Amino acid sequence: MLIKNEIYETVITDYTNEGQGVAHIEGCAVFIPNAIAGEKVRVRIEKAQKTWAAGKIVEILEKSPHRVNRECPVAKLCGGCDFWHMDYEEESRLKADRVKSCLNRIGGETLENVPILAAPTCYGYRNKAQYPVSAKKGRAYAGFFRAGTHDVVENKRCLILPTETDAVKDAVMDYVNQHRVSVYDEAAHKGLLRHIYVRRGVLSGQVLVCLVCNGDRLPKVEELLKRLQKIPGFTTLVLSVNTKKGNTVLGDKFLTLHGPGFIEDTLCGLTFRLSPRSFYQVNHHQAQRLYEAAIAQAEITKNDLVLDLYCGVGTITLAMASAAGKVIGVEVIPQAVEDAKDNAKRNGIENAEFFCGDAGAAALELEQKGIRPDVVVVDPPRKGLNADTIEALHRMSPRRIVYVSCDPATLARDVALLKERGYILKNAMAADLFPRCSHVESVVTLSRKTPDDVIEIDLELDELDITAAESKATYPEIKEYVLKHHGLKVSSLYIAQVKRKCGLDVGENHNLPSPGGRPQPQVPPEKEEAIRDALKYFSML
Ligand code: SAH
Repeated sequence: MLIKNEIYETVITDYTNEGQGVAHIEGCAVFIPNAIAGEKVRVRIEKAQKTWAAGKIVEILEKSPHRVNRECPVAKLCGGCDFWHMDYEEESRLKADRVKSCLNRIGGETLENVPILAAPTCYGYRNKAQYPVSAKKGRAYAGFFRAGTHDVVENKRCLILPTETDAVKDAVMDYVNQHRVSVYDEAAHKGLLRHIYVRRGVLSGQVLVCLVCNGDRLPKVEELLKRLQKIPGFTTLVLSVNTKKGNTVLGDKFLTLHGPGFIEDTLCGLTFRLSPRSFYQVNHHQAQRLYEAAIAQAEITKNDLVLDLYCGVGTITLAMASAAGKVIGVEVIPQAVEDAKDNAKRNGIENAEFFCGDAGAAALELEQKGIRPDVVVVDPPRKGLNADTIEALHRMSPRRIVYVSCDPATLARDVALLKERGYILKNAMAADLFPRCSHVESVVTLSRKTPDDVIEIDLELDELDITAAESKATYPEIKEYVLKHHGLKVSSLYIAQVKRKCGLDVGENHNLPSPGGRPQPQVPPEKEEAIRDALKYFSML
């Protein structure tokens, strides 16, 4: 065990999911913030456990060429970003590497490389901000939580936000301080204003301001509006009532104080209505590239039924609609489903349907009703798919599953589960939607391995075994006979099953279990009859 407060010399070899550096000292993994892979450092151990420790750099002995001066003055305090101490090249490399290593380690793949859609800019990209507010010595201020705490770090200008968003924060805080609006004190569960939530449509320029309050009334709203109306694009003001203790930012009740209560934005050529409660990717440019990759990987055709689980306001669902026969979206937040339905209408899309409900439960219900989608898209929150969703996917057995993920570890776990159910990983790609922050998105495609796929391979091997004594007809000849005389299509698997039942040699390869342990379909009686007839015809019985 390492000794607390002792200083050790070590080399950073890797990163944690949160972007901290990792070193190994005396067999113990040490987590070191603000460290870059390849750097030789002296660290002070701050916490020591049996198998791991936490340390802090006291001196960098060999600096990484990727180390840069932090442009953000509060980067070290603020818990919002993780990577201002390194260049973007290293950040995008480590993100692609994380997705690859999760898929290999947890997903059982052997990928050599996972490409990443790197971001063209690290500045002003976020279209949404949630500023917690606090007060000190009678002055209220807004900023971001210090990492791992609820202490608010004041941040005058956040580099990953557009200036309009910070201008909203300043306008609100000016109103709060001028008119002595109380701010929320978490410990005492008292005070009114909790969070300032701002969402800005990148292409529309429209700005939604939502003030989260421990109450349902704001004093002197006209004073607030007077300030907000000076912000370019300001469209709507909403009050979200959150009187509960705890970490959830938004409350359940929304009161529109000015404007329509939502904004619009354009993504993938479609217009979307966005309510405060609805999910919308925070990086517009990169989200569009991610969706384009997902749509390309889905390889949808005009006859396909596409099911989009965890669909939000229907961004991916509607972007896929024109390529598909029909699209169905499932989403748990009622407000988002309302937005999705409205979005289908406002874009004149008639082949889309949306359901409100839990993805797993809804998918199982659709499966029970006989719905068999050709392609399923899933885009779950960080915890990944639940058991019901995996089960529903297994039963519906779509040709392709396109999995958009914000957590490579749960993605890889689910990939392993789907591989056990007869799928293979076709494509994997990372996408950076959160430059300077440790989160990374990815999109992978799984494709169904059909029993017939395997039989095709078996067939060639099998046919090499054929001897005149045991077989007078080849599999294609039997298939042709059955089709011609009984109007039925039969697979090589079914022929092999009937031959085995009749005591004929079918060759070892047909005894192989199907891929991933998927139960093999059994020959239906009608087809068995037809195959037996063919075997008789060819004098094999
Ligand atoms: N595909 C959308 C939304 C992805 S975010 C887009 O790219 O914009 C994940 C979505 O899943 C959120 O809208 C969230 O509200 C929803 N969600 C979370 N848990 C869910 C569940 N159990 N069932 C269905 N949807 C869920």
